[in-house]
Amino acid sequence: MAKTRVHELAKEFGVESKFVLEKFKEMGEFVKSASSTVELPAEMRFRKEYGEQLKSSAAAAPAEAPAEKPAPKKAAAKKATPKPPGKKAAPEPEAPVEQPAVDEAPAAEPTVVAPDDQEPPAEPEAPAAAAPATPKPAAPKPAAPKAPSPRPVGRAGAPRPGNNPFASSQGMGRRPAPADRGGDDNRPPRPPAGRGAPGVPRPNPAMMPKSPAAFGSGPGARPAGGGRGGPGGGRGGAPARGRGGPGAGAGAGAPGGGFRPGGPGGRGRPGGRGQTQGAFGRPGGPSRRGRKSKRARRQEFEQMEAPTIGGVRVRKGNGETVRLARGSSLTDFAEKINVDAASLVQMLFSLGEMVTATQSVGDETFELLGDELNYVVQVVSPEDEDRELLESFDLEFGADEGDDEDLAIRPPVVTVMGHVDHGKTKLLDALRSANVVDKEAGGITQHIGAYQVATEVDEQERRITFIDTPGHEAFTAMRARGAQATDIAVLVVAANDGVMPQTVEALNHAKAADVPIVVAVNKIDLPEADPSKVRGQLTEYGLVPEEYGGDVMFVDVSAKSELNLENLLEAIVLTADASLDLRANPTQDAQGLVVEAHLDRGRGPVATVLVQRGTLRVGDSLVAGPAYGRVRAMLDEHGENIEEADPSRPAMVLGLNAAPSAGQNFIVVEDDRMARQIAEKREARERAAMQAKRRVRRTLEDFMASMEQGESQELNLILKGDVSGSVEALEDALSKIDVGDDVSLRVIDRGVGAITETNVDLAAASDAIIIGFNVRPQGKATEMADKEGVEIRYYTVIYQAIDEIEAALKGMLKPEFEEQVLGQAEIREIFKSSKAGNIAGCMVTSGVIRRNAKVRLLRDGAVVQDNLELASLRREKDDASEVREGFECGLVLKNYQDIKIDDVIEAFEMREIPRD
Ligand code: GDP
Repeated sequence: MAKTRVHELAKEFGVESKFVLEKFKEMGEFVKSASSTVELPAEMRFRKEYGEQLKSSAAAAPAEAPAEKPAPKKAAAKKATPKPPGKKAAPEPEAPVEQPAVDEAPAAEPTVVAPDDQEPPAEPEAPAAAAPATPKPAAPKPAAPKAPSPRPVGRAGAPRPGNNPFASSQGMGRRPAPADRGGDDNRPPRPPAGRGAPGVPRPNPAMMPKSPAAFGSGPGARPAGGGRGGPGGGRGGAPARGRGGPGAGAGAGAPGGGFRPGGPGGRGRPGGRGQTQGAFGRPGGPSRRGRKSKRARRQEFEQMEAPTIGGVRVRKGNGETVRLARGSSLTDFAEKINVDAASLVQMLFSLGEMVTATQSVGDETFELLGDELNYVVQVVSPEDEDRELLESFDLEFGADEGDDEDLAIRPPVVTVMGHVDHGKTKLLDALRSANVVDKEAGGITQHIGAYQVATEVDEQERRITFIDTPGHEAFTAMRARGAQATDIAVLVVAANDGVMPQTVEALNHAKAADVPIVVAVNKIDLPEADPSKVRGQLTEYGLVPEEYGGDVMFVDVSAKSELNLENLLEAIVLTADASLDLRANPTQDAQGLVVEAHLDRGRGPVATVLVQRGTLRVGDSLVAGPAYGRVRAMLDEHGENIEEADPSRPAMVLGLNAAPSAGQNFIVVEDDRMARQIAEKREARERAAMQAKRRVRRTLEDFMASMEQGESQELNLILKGDVSGSVEALEDALSKIDVGDDVSLRVIDRGVGAITETNVDLAAASDAIIIGFNVRPQGKATEMADKEGVEIRYYTVIYQAIDEIEAALKGMLKPEFEEQVLGQAEIREIFKSSKAGNIAGCMVTSGVIRRNAKVRLLRDGAVVQDNLELASLRREKDDASEVREGFECGLVLKNYQDIKIDDVIEAFEMREIPRD
């Protein structure tokens, strides 16, 4: 079951996320922000403790305001009552808005003051409230009547005995579904409102419904600001600001009657001003504006009436759709909707999320913001964007062109996976050296990222392509880019070791990708090898060997002794034939994936690509990720030049302008120009995405936000590697490290090649650590790193890098301590000394008493005094650093003299709990 998020709970109960967050805090649950998920037990507790009250209050105030415009929103679809588009909403029967009019029923108001609101609930000049205010209810007090308002709902100016103990008298309506919120009518309430009303507490902003639409909009639904500012003489009820719909506030006939309150005697805004604004948009109100077109008035209004959310004024949308690339920042969003990014930061802050303007923001957060601002935010994935980009050039990646008869069988592409040290690399090497295609032609094989081997099955030559980067990390990193290069996974399990954690992980990855598995039970040359145990173990994970009646082929091999390798190849071919239909059209323009790429000193950018369909030829124009170029030459795994590469054939391509990333697709296009155009668009997009992620220097705002939060820590990393495959694999593995909410890890930049001064620069600016995987610094980078205090760590093994970074992250976590009792000593005698005070002559009855330890004094089993220190500890006449069980000692407690014979001194220390 999906976990609930804070803002969803808030929405459900019609309160602000901040409020829910506060309640969790009171319950002792740490929930970070509005978009954090809540553990089920915590959610249940919340529902149990607050649900009833919130619900009953929501029921009593069903202030679902009719929307002025339909807001076509995703989220809205769930809850909102659909409205005919373009039609001004008539009040919905179930959605009348009742408004508190404190002058009418002051005594009925709940008198609960928000926990963080110390304001006296009633003004001295106001008549004493019947229900006295409770100054600080940390927990809700059901002081208010449970029954819903006896008064007719929908009457402006009608009192609502807001029976929500959390709520102020105002606006405790359910938070309306987004579509219900009027596009321009959503002025949030202002906290100081209603003070003038007897017994009306100041609302706690956190408890206010998120949407001011709870105040109602549309006919008859306007909050009677005037009413509030009326005879009660309150401080003008500012929240009532807002535009009345036609006929709005018909019942709001209080003095000062503009919709902007502040009646005579109101302490707040002068009535006059209220009138001026009140005239605006309220038919019948005295207008000083002369005749303005409806549109002009509306525009003016919209500008003025930008809603305030968390005290920030931002113009709202009209339900327009805003497209954002996944990983965009608030700055990107702000640009699209033409507002100031800082105000979005502030707004999110008020909704309980700490996000900086340039930080990339999750889909959920955008959805939340979109809801608040009345936009439909569509977060598009890079794959979607890319598809659209290609479509705009009349291209489609993944399309096999041609009919059935055009399709030819292609070799399966295999990835070798399994636990570390089970022999993946050895197996790949053994297969390569024993069976490479055209062995006699090539000579030494090269590592280009993939290679093909040939075998004979049923007297036919069959080829198999092996991806040369073992392990599921690279496989999954590719898959994360939407690229599935692998047709079959070979799961290597050492027969002497059996199924290990990464074996299970690997098989889960393969299953997740729906890739058939062939099991290679390796190291059968070892005497302790137990291949049948491996079979038994894997059966438990659903991989049932054929010989046990299942459908998975198990082959016992020895990579070291090159035993049974042919059988393994045969098993791969047979599995491919049995479960896959591997065919592709070799005659179309080539498409495929980048398997690996790097910058070669002599040859420039080189990329190993795997042709998936079509045939790639020298001279083709191609675009590979953000790189483009014309194929100048192609090399196979022996370093031999080849003219063309057919489906499943890996080839190293020379002639690109840059090194693409592993997993990115390549596609042959008409000409160089088209290739360049596509590449440039992709590059611009990547750059923008990267920039959005990059956090350069913390602003004061960030700083303050994280100070408030108190515990957020972040480890920024820059990853550099020799080949893109390892960088991707590393990043993917790092992203899976889970150290809880308090610490986060961010890869702010990554790349292939040496560590440059630019990398160090960025690291210095963003407090990042640089990880060099098989690479070293270039030029003055080391010197600069020393100067700037930037740490560079070098690795050649991925797992070591991951382990160390994980440890570093855990080191960043605040230490947790637990008390450890060291020992106890009984006081047998007390000596009085004019110099030292009372000296306790003790016998250590258990453990040890240490000079530096903390001690507590126990009397009859109860703690008399805790957290004491020793002023001295002696054995015989000598100072001792510790005295063990069974020995006598003399000790003096620091600044504490009240000891008695038979008291027990217990020594303890606080030990850090290692995190696992
Ligand atoms: P990987 O981490 O899965 O890539 O494992 P490696 O290929 O690096 O192999 C780990 C160790 O196991 C190396 O010392 C290999 O020499 C050894 N090894 C691999 N295959 C065999 C085998 O079939 N038999 C024996 N005895 N040792 C093997």
